[in-house]
Amino acid sequence: MSFFSIDAAQGPVWMDGRLVPWDEATLHALSHGLNNASCVFEGARIYAGKVFRLEKHARRLLKSAEIMGITMHYTLARLCEATEELVRARGLESGYVRPVVWKGHEDLGIAAPHAKTHVAIAALSLGDVVPAEVRAAGVRLKTSSWARPAPNTAPLGAKASCHYALGSLAMREAQAAGFDDALLLDYRGFVAEATGTNIFIVKNGALLTPIADCALDGITRQAVLELARRRNIDAAETRLYPKDVCEADEAFLTGTASEILPIRAIDGVNFPAARPITDALTDDYFSLVGKA
Ligand code: PMP
Repeated sequence: MSFFSIDAAQGPVWMDGRLVPWDEATLHALSHGLNNASCVFEGARIYAGKVFRLEKHARRLLKSAEIMGITMHYTLARLCEATEELVRARGLESGYVRPVVWKGHEDLGIAAPHAKTHVAIAALSLGDVVPAEVRAAGVRLKTSSWARPAPNTAPLGAKASCHYALGSLAMREAQAAGFDDALLLDYRGFVAEATGTNIFIVKNGALLTPIADCALDGITRQAVLELARRRNIDAAETRLYPKDVCEADEAFLTGTASEILPIRAIDGVNFPAARPITDALTDDYFSLVGKA
């Protein structure tokens, strides 16, 4: 069972400029986005009826589309407005927004210059993705046999669907071995991120996270760096070896859906049970998003 299992209609969906019923939010089987991965997406949270850092998510979506060569016909303002219109129509207080952009079926060539761009935004009802007991205990990660690729072998600056083939394989591998998630190293052997979250460690009171050149520069990651600086915690983006992570005093993951999630162990190596900095930053994050 996934926390994102969808067992009933959650419509309407904003699609190419208008709200359509859930069952009509479909695409053609020959869509280039589906066949050739010309597809980018976002994931944002709704807290108290408002999308957290909506503009940052919309900006990242536009940037992702640009990197992938997908022509966008909507401005930043229009994307934000469409998202707000949908959230209002859905009447959601707590939820998750999934905008997705892909090239259509009008051109089955590799570059597909004639394929039209489609944009859909769905808003799902979503409460706490991570049960309180899992948040309290922390998650167990397994270092993946899959590695994040080099920048000249994948469009790493984009939140593009193509990256999630690797993420899905890594997650299935970790879960099949009885772990909660996978820790991905990059092609050089540095720590990159988990399958849908960024990683942080605490060592001697300082907060460290990998430079986001082989990982997504998460919006939650950026918020946590800001919060740490506000607390006068030394916070740096740096290169981390797996050994640095295993020797850390605390470690946690960050992401829109998971928020701040402590790591209990990596490959069977346990972290100390006390997590003062993780706990403090979690409190700060929950107040920032209006959850505390
Ligand atoms: N890394 C990956 C691979 C992700 O899919 C996500 C989720 N979007 C993150 C990190 C965290 O990013 P954010 O904080 O923007 O949700």
